[in-house]
Amino acid sequence: MNTKTERIQKDIEALAEFNATPGAGLTRMSFTPEHRGAQEYLVQAMKDAGLQVRIDAAGTVIGRLEGREPELAPVVAGSHYDSVPNGGNFDGPAGVVMGLEIARTFQDLGIKPKRPVEFVAMIEEEGARFGGGLFASRAMAGKVTRQELETYRDKQGISSGEAMKAFGLDPEKIGEAVRSKGSIYAFLEMHIEQGKILESNGQDVGVVHAIVGIKELRVTIQGRADHAGATPMDMRADAYLAACKVALAVNKGAIAAGHGTVATVGKVEVFPGGFNIVPGKVVFSVDIRSSKSCCLDQVMETVNEALREACGQEEGLSYEIETLMDVVPVELDEHICGLLGKNAEKAGFSYRDMVSGAGHDTQVMAEIAPAALLFVPCRGGRSHCPEEWTDYDQLQKGIEVCCETIMELAEE
Ligand SMILES: [Zn+2]
Repeated sequence: MNTKTERIQKDIEALAEFNATPGAGLTRMSFTPEHRGAQEYLVQAMKDAGLQVRIDAAGTVIGRLEGREPELAPVVAGSHYDSVPNGGNFDGPAGVVMGLEIARTFQDLGIKPKRPVEFVAMIEEEGARFGGGLFASRAMAGKVTRQELETYRDKQGISSGEAMKAFGLDPEKIGEAVRSKGSIYAFLEMHIEQGKILESNGQDVGVVHAIVGIKELRVTIQGRADHAGATPMDMRADAYLAACKVALAVNKGAIAAGHGTVATVGKVEVFPGGFNIVPGKVVFSVDIRSSKSCCLDQVMETVNEALREACGQEEGLSYEIETLMDVVPVELDEHICGLLGKNAEKAGFSYRDMVSGAGHDTQVMAEIAPAALLFVPCRGGRSHCPEEWTDYDQLQKGIEVCCETIMELAEE
């Protein structure tokens, strides 16, 4: 193990200590003592790496390496360090430690870049405490409203604004976190893949070209609950049967749309839910993801058609669709993606172009700056669980690619 890998391991392990559920995965909710501990560690590590550290109005730790031309728009890099309940040590921290290690590399080499470089450690990306998620990046993009800080509440009923206040941040000043469009030269995040593509192909890094758009629907099919013994097959309004036809169409629709489009019926509730009762009502989810808006729309159209058809076949069936989430796909910056691929190749690492099926802070940052995202492999594709793991030398390879890329961007 080389010094760099050791430093990376030390950071990951140190951050993992700030955990509300030791022995049962990592739980680090926003504005908690664990958050405070991790924040203090990061502030100190950034100072030790020679950065000027500040905390923005949303709680993002920002460590700035001054440039030779301080007035130029900075290159910004990092990820988040909050977790889901009982999650792993790498989802988020991998990209935060990327920032720390690159700052130390600049320091080791005594390099002062032309542009300033800012390493960021964001919070509440998962939305595990207050819902919503992508909090710190949305604050930078000016999308966190004063209203949200009052309405988004945790299980105890504490609003995110109240929690911020108790943590020493002023919710009234949330607007001060905003970074205007053009004020950031480039944004780069590194993250674990949370899937198995890199591992199964034995590849070192993945250059993410697009983050998928998501449509999440809640569909209710209303039928008629009847006696399962006394009701002949041709006299039923079986809501579950209709839902099954829709589920099959959802699957076929995603395959037909292509371009890596996926669609899933993952949650089904059957009412009243008895062995001997024809289902009278079904509520189910449809989750559609694609890097192309047209494919999302195509599957959506398939869902509509399938519902019309399935519910039109029997008397007494009707349906309703609610849209719970509608996020458009985000294309990432070609220039930065190109540099990432080139630098992976130069270092002798294998890489592939990818699409991210999960949401990340990068998708929000892409609204205000050219942005890119690099994936590192993740064992067995496991994530959001205690088993989540990436080998330290794999992290280092990703960090090396990011480092070269940031050094180049900072000289542009
Ligand atoms: Zn994450």
